[in-house]
Amino acid sequence: MFRRILIANRGEIACRIIKTARRMGIATVAVYSEADRDALHVAMADEAVPIGPPPAAESYLCIDKIIDACRKTEAEAVHPGYGFLSERAEFAEALEQAGIVFIGPNAKAIAALGDKIEAKKLAARARVSTVPGHIGVVKDEAEARRIAHDIGYPVMIKASAGGGGKGMRIARSEGELLEGLARAQSEAKSSFGDERVFLEKFIESPRHIEIQVLGDKHGNVIHLGERECSIQRRNQKIVEEAPSPLVDAAMRERMGAQAVALAKAAGYDSAGTVEFIAGQDRQFYFLEMNTRLQVEHPVTELVTGLDLVEQMIRVAAGEKLGIRQSDVKLTGWAVESRIYAEDPYRNFLPSTGRLVTYRPPNDWVADGVTVRNDTGVVEGDEISVYYDPLVAKLITHGPTREAAIDAQADALDAFAIEGVSHNIPFLAALMQHPRWRAGRLSTEFIAEEYPEGFRLQSSEAAREILAAVGAAIDHVLGERKRKISGQLRSRPVMRERRRVVVVGDVELALEIGRRNEQIVVSFAGGRSHLLQSAWSPGQPVWSGTFDGRMLSVRVRPIVNGFRLMHRGAEAEVFVYTEREAAAARLMPAKKKAAAGKALRAPMPGLVASIAVSVGQEVKAGEPLAVIEAMKMENVLRAERDGVVKAIRVKPGDNLPVDAVIMEFA
Ligand code: ADP
Ligand code: ADP
Ligand code: MG
Repeated sequence: MFRRILIANRGEIACRIIKTARRMGIATVAVYSEADRDALHVAMADEAVPIGPPPAAESYLCIDKIIDACRKTEAEAVHPGYGFLSERAEFAEALEQAGIVFIGPNAKAIAALGDKIEAKKLAARARVSTVPGHIGVVKDEAEARRIAHDIGYPVMIKASAGGGGKGMRIARSEGELLEGLARAQSEAKSSFGDERVFLEKFIESPRHIEIQVLGDKHGNVIHLGERECSIQRRNQKIVEEAPSPLVDAAMRERMGAQAVALAKAAGYDSAGTVEFIAGQDRQFYFLEMNTRLQVEHPVTELVTGLDLVEQMIRVAAGEKLGIRQSDVKLTGWAVESRIYAEDPYRNFLPSTGRLVTYRPPNDWVADGVTVRNDTGVVEGDEISVYYDPLVAKLITHGPTREAAIDAQADALDAFAIEGVSHNIPFLAALMQHPRWRAGRLSTEFIAEEYPEGFRLQSSEAAREILAAVGAAIDHVLGERKRKISGQLRSRPVMRERRRVVVVGDVELALEIGRRNEQIVVSFAGGRSHLLQSAWSPGQPVWSGTFDGRMLSVRVRPIVNGFRLMHRGAEAEVFVYTEREAAAARLMPAKKKAAAGKALRAPMPGLVASIAVSVGQEVKAGEPLAVIEAMKMENVLRAERDGVVKAIRVKPGDNLPVDAVIMEFA
């Protein structure tokens, strides 16, 4: 076994790999860019080597610098994580030449599978069912027209070198095909340095289901069942689970056999993932193979009980797989949420900033439920523009899908992040969504269920919980205030027990009182609730029991009140006595700050395109411009109707944050 390995990555995945290496008794070396000097992965590793400036192209993507760092620290092997150099055949080759082991598949397998066209050819030869289409480079317009006519519209134009959800576009007609083709080629050229594109059938509302495979250097390959990753935005996954609610034993067996056949045909000898899309009819088609550890690998770990990083390290060291296909047993259900620094209320636009508060729920195992948080940051860290906006992953496992989802919902409620926008409100709302809970999924789920975009959630039941918890918090604050004022003489003061609680724009009347450790909240003309919590002022999460049930509510102080969130319902809550409420009603409603008459860059980035012209009338929600930043194309949309007065930038411009992109009349 290796004595020391280097991790050529950052963030949560670097931390996760270090944990396993440490458990195996292997020393770890981290590498870091100038932006990551104080990062968690650097602190966790036994040693750390600086590798250059913040942009990945000058640090994490520099093969020479990684190899130098290995030499300096005498690391015998490198784990590449995902992204960065993980799928570069030339990296695996360069390491081999330097006498360093690559903890991943052999360079030949990466090369054979990394290119989507070549991978599809190989898959077809291995009798894997591929998405109908033409397996080859599209040469010119005439050929594109002919192929698209043969497979039938809609078709998808895809970059052969594409990845990360980029380099894909749909064409629903010949017009769209001809228009899209040239743009797809030039985008592929600029994004991936490779203009080859191909065409395949666009499958309407499919499900994304993938098979985890594991091979060794002795010709053995097994599969570890499937993951479903249909909850996506911009063709990128947000929530994943294992197993899939669609897949039955027969389908699992067929998909697994095809994935293993492809891996064997490619001489695959590490952990990898064969991605498919599947129709609701359980027909499935090969999409691509990812020759690396996948972001969502933890859900497979929790249902199989295997540590995939450990397996990768062992097979890289030459060990034979210690498990046979018949040893693989899937137990229970696991769900993973990707916690992204992005604004769910603004079309999931990535956000940057400092993590002023960062308190993930604790990892724990109890009553058959596991909560695992794979994180790469600590409170006070900066989410920068240089890397992708994944902050952490939250994974829960339970005996059933429902138990895993409920545990996920609870853990999301207890997850406190302040300082950057994040998608927890969306994830928390999703966990309550009846269609998600029923497992009726498709990659169009978000587009279909939130056609107008994700909005603040509220329901009567949620409002009652927020009001009761808000009143309880206010009560605790009041008790504390009285203690501090030093009123020692304990002549019981008759306190007014009636309160008016404003939740968002709804007023609720209630009475509040204490019964020993518990707080009793009775709503006017209705239900009473018993609350108990050790919450004290300053804590970002109120955790306790609500009518005997465990429950968490996020608490953020605002002027005269709190912003509370529970299960995706979020509201500003103000607790008044009746006199205060009467006074508050007389206050003029605060006018919403008029959004400036300009579109500004929400983050530093590169202008990819401008979708409008001067004088054009735009409607709220219409795309205005595309900014490339944080490894994503971000569509900026009109926040309300207006007319474009001036455009201040052009494609190719590099913008600082808040730069004016266009002005409106
Ligand atoms: P997974 O397929 O493991 O679910 P993603 O598709 O989200 O993961 O990609 C994993 C990571 O790799 C992300 O950080 C993504 O930005 C990055 N990535 C994937 N493919 C590419 C590529 N071709 N070029 C650059 N980054 C990529
Ligand atoms: P990437 O390398 O960017 O991960 P994939 O080929 O894996 O690209 O596709 C990413 C996602 O795009 C899929 O999960 C699916 O949602 C969608 N997609 C890709 N190909 C098709 C297709 N032919 N029809 C419908 N959706 C597709
Ligand atoms: Mg993919």
